[in-house]
Amino acid sequence: MASVQLLRCFIDGQWVETDRRFSNVNPVNGEVFAQVCEADAATVQRAIQAANRACSGPWKKFSAVERAAALRRIADGIEQRFEAFVQAEVMDTGRPVHQARSLDVARGIANFRTFADLITTASGDMFESAAPDGAKVINYVTRKPLGTIGIISPWNLPLLLLTWKVAPALAMGNCVVVKPSEETPSSATLLAEVIQEAGLPHGVFNLVHGFGPDSAGQYLSTSPDIDAITFTGESRTGTTIMKAAAEGVKEVSFELGGKNAAVVFADADFDAAITGVMRSSFTNSGQVCLCSERVYVERPIFDRFVKELKRRTERLVVGYPDTKDVDMGPLVSLQHRDKVLSYYQLAKDEGATVVAGGGVPVFGDERDMGAYVQPTILTGLPDTARCMREEIFGPICHISPFDTEEEVIRRTNDSAYGLACSIWTTHLSRAHRVASQIQTGIVWVNTWFTRDLRTPFGGAKLSGLGREGGRYSLDFYSEISTICIKL
Ligand code: NAD
Repeated sequence: MASVQLLRCFIDGQWVETDRRFSNVNPVNGEVFAQVCEADAATVQRAIQAANRACSGPWKKFSAVERAAALRRIADGIEQRFEAFVQAEVMDTGRPVHQARSLDVARGIANFRTFADLITTASGDMFESAAPDGAKVINYVTRKPLGTIGIISPWNLPLLLLTWKVAPALAMGNCVVVKPSEETPSSATLLAEVIQEAGLPHGVFNLVHGFGPDSAGQYLSTSPDIDAITFTGESRTGTTIMKAAAEGVKEVSFELGGKNAAVVFADADFDAAITGVMRSSFTNSGQVCLCSERVYVERPIFDRFVKELKRRTERLVVGYPDTKDVDMGPLVSLQHRDKVLSYYQLAKDEGATVVAGGGVPVFGDERDMGAYVQPTILTGLPDTARCMREEIFGPICHISPFDTEEEVIRRTNDSAYGLACSIWTTHLSRAHRVASQIQTGIVWVNTWFTRDLRTPFGGAKLSGLGREGGRYSLDFYSEISTICIKL
């Protein structure tokens, strides 16, 4: 068993211990491996005040080039402690080590470098016009920092999603108070160490640990002293935070839940589609907001597709995160496993046919105390079933047949969510035609999860509000103002 660490808050450049602690549990075997200092209301307020002071301190004088250099030092710092970050992500979540290396930590570094590049190359609008007396007028658009940003993040891709917001917020000259998920406090704590070593002025980056309601998340999001909130998590939580933000008319950016579809046409490259749907359904044990829980397959290839997906799913290696060739680790927690298993049961109650999985794997060792579930494929549910409409957030997909393009567009869009969709086809016109009618923030054709960090990212309907990524992040994390000068 790993020794029990103490994870502290980081406020105004100092490590802060609090009296209330909660346990950080390894989902592989249920063992406690760290204690985490929970921030009470006064501690969160201290962090916010530190950030507010830092907004008007030396940080304010940093030029874009200097802020970009600070971001690059942070990226370098993560890179130098690459394996420590990998270990932190793996201990908190149980994800495969190879995934933590190739995705989570790699993207954490890329987020800082991308926004360092963007901030030094960003240009602004400039318009020339005339005043009523005919004199020439120039108008140019500037971006100022918003101030103190509250950043609240989830557990599913802890470092990736946190840095996706911290990097642009700092790039635009803001100060931040971050509240990572209570399930995954480790990589955020390491990030605070890296930021401390990178020499940012005290108070620019503050970290508070804790839960949501009646804890650090609520204290942060309801504080009148922050200037904006950016949140990634469940749609329900987004609603609660939005109500709190409404009070002070605060800017909000929300990246919320999904119930995404994969659409496979009969003309698709069959192997590519199978490989793509395996990834989009089971990556990170299905705990990615972009995962496809609804798969629609054109009827002529439906039976063959189900048979092959079953064969490939039953060969997935579920096990220890550091096992060679492991495909899936556990879910993030026993509590989340119970939620996912309740949907496995609900699917059966709703009349689904279980094609693969549907239960928990038995290992005969300590992993039986962990949060493992089997990757699961279902068929036979109507689109009205709860399992077809609610986000499950586990390694599960339901496959339905369809007959026409119009039908599958309608069924894909028949969802309260609108985050992502992947289409598998070799028909060029169809790809464009269908993609343009799907009501989601992103549509992939013949790929899944591929992201250019300069493109806008976000969701329609219950899946979010606003867009981040590239200049869209620069827009959100700044107060845009126009300066109009009569010459
Ligand atoms: P969650 O909403 O339960 O928690 C997210 C964060 O909010 C945590 O830090 C939590 O402590 C905090 N929180 C909870 N209640 C709060 C409250 N009342 N006030 C303030 N803070 C509160 O979400 P989760 O279970 O951690 O994450 C999974 C969800 O995140 C899924 O719905 C998934 O689809 C979504 N997600 C969306 C995206 C996206 O980009 N759209 C990305 C990743 C995850």
